[in-house]
Amino acid sequence: MLHVFATIFAALLGLAFGSFLNVCLSRWPEDESIVHPRSHCRSCKRTLTSWENIPLLSWLVLRGRCRTCHAPIHWRYPLVEAAVALLWALAVWRSDQASFPVEFAVGMMFLLWILVALAALDAGYLWLPDFLTYPGIAFGFCWWVVQRTQIDFALHDRWTPEDLKRVGQRLLGILLAAALIVVIRWIYWLFRRQEGIGLGDAKLMALLAAWLGLPGALLSFFFGVVLGALVAVPLILTRRAATAKLPLGTFLCIGGIVTSLWGRQIIATYLTWAGF
Ligand SMILES: [Zn+2]
Repeated sequence: MLHVFATIFAALLGLAFGSFLNVCLSRWPEDESIVHPRSHCRSCKRTLTSWENIPLLSWLVLRGRCRTCHAPIHWRYPLVEAAVALLWALAVWRSDQASFPVEFAVGMMFLLWILVALAALDAGYLWLPDFLTYPGIAFGFCWWVVQRTQIDFALHDRWTPEDLKRVGQRLLGILLAAALIVVIRWIYWLFRRQEGIGLGDAKLMALLAAWLGLPGALLSFFFGVVLGALVAVPLILTRRAATAKLPLGTFLCIGGIVTSLWGRQIIATYLTWAGF
């Protein structure tokens, strides 16, 4: 029962943090402060009343338009709010299967929020800002170390050389994940003599490896590439590929979201299916 309440609470908290993310998403690209001024219509600048600021519901009641100037309110707003609410509820719902439910839930909520933010920014502006990726990598690594240390100390009350080796491997995994993108970028440049993939994508892969380990980052990459191909092939067939720049980061983020919530099951199912 407590589990159900915690999940509902996470969904409501997710709505609020999704709403806050919307403010960030419309202000970061314009280099505006995210705290000042208060929420306002981007078109007529009128400050919103408190009932116009209710996540999801306001958009539905207003039918996606500003009450005074009738300017359309982008569907990104309700989508981001619903996405963060749903993903946070899933993270808390799944946390009872983790060794450290609280650490798992808090960490996953942070990761999912940052992945939704990066997915939206890359889709809208082909922009994966360093002020999100670098702290994301650092937090992810610390989050893993905290949980790993608890296991290690429960097992033998101190760090053994074996444990330290594991930390080194985790750091190496972060570097390798980024290196994968750098190598692909370099090969692309050799053939096409133009920049195909940004360094932001390399930092995003490092972030995924910090949180999900190298296998998790590679699984995210696999999903991202498959999803990207599903979007790109129709564009190439209709010869619109030349004009459209695809946000690889958005696809990687979606791959990362799927992996963070279902990665273990997907790998386990695959191994059973493949007969290992
Ligand atoms: Zn307005």
